[in-house]
Amino acid sequence: MMQRYFTKTDSPIGSVYFTTDDEMIHHMRNVMRFKENENVVLVFNEAITFLSRIQSLTDEGITFELVEEIKKNVELPLKVTIASAFPKGDKLKWITQKSTELGASSFAFFPSSRSVVKLDKKKAMKKKESLEKIAMEASEQSHRTHVPTVDFFGNFSSVCESFKNYDKVLVAYEESAKIGETTKFFSVVQDMKENEKLLLVFGPEGGFSEAEVEEMEAFLAIRVGLGPRILRAETAPMYALSAISTIRELM
Ligand code: SAM
Repeated sequence: MMQRYFTKTDSPIGSVYFTTDDEMIHHMRNVMRFKENENVVLVFNEAITFLSRIQSLTDEGITFELVEEIKKNVELPLKVTIASAFPKGDKLKWITQKSTELGASSFAFFPSSRSVVKLDKKKAMKKKESLEKIAMEASEQSHRTHVPTVDFFGNFSSVCESFKNYDKVLVAYEESAKIGETTKFFSVVQDMKENEKLLLVFGPEGGFSEAEVEEMEAFLAIRVGLGPRILRAETAPMYALSAISTIRELM
């Protein structure tokens, strides 16, 4: 598998790219032990991607020749944000890694009334940094051209306030599933236009309270079932993203 690097910069005008990015130099020289004339994939801003050849590789910097632009689109046709109420333990790592592989565009993590885990600002910042690294690695591994962003919200109402930034907001609600709601998720996902922004909201192990769901509906969220089985907090986002890929990429 050809190693992929996200430059976090705009693509250069010409066909030569020079970087002094320490992380990239360290990884290429000391971890991967790349040599001149070997190839890697460079991903620039706006998902511009090039097959690139190493012209020179020193501790001071790396020069690449941009050999050929790779135009293959690997991103989901909808920009899907996964919003999960803080689950227990290390589940945010799992949700971030697997949802990145499945095409998530960004993450929003927040406290809800039944979240057992409470994160103060300092802990949340620390967690954000480690999850951003996980997202970067999962994007490289799954050959994506976009690295999902990771945001933490301090309270439930600030997440609801953010709903206005999306074209559609769906709340995965276990009680909807229990009463046999099986159509809304499919019809919303099927009808959305290419590159529209979809927010999917998931509860913690204890689920959402009816009051929380009603508050989200006041901000125009739609409650949906995700099928008859009750999934773990870390499984439900995987199910939803896989279903979106099936509806919009495979059918
Ligand atoms: N404590 C709840 C119960 O027993 O009914 C289950 C909560 S579930 C473990 C965690 C979250 O996953 C839910 O809040 C919801 O967001 C989502 N979820 C799991 N299964 C679902 C389903 N079949 N339909 C909709 N959402 C589901």
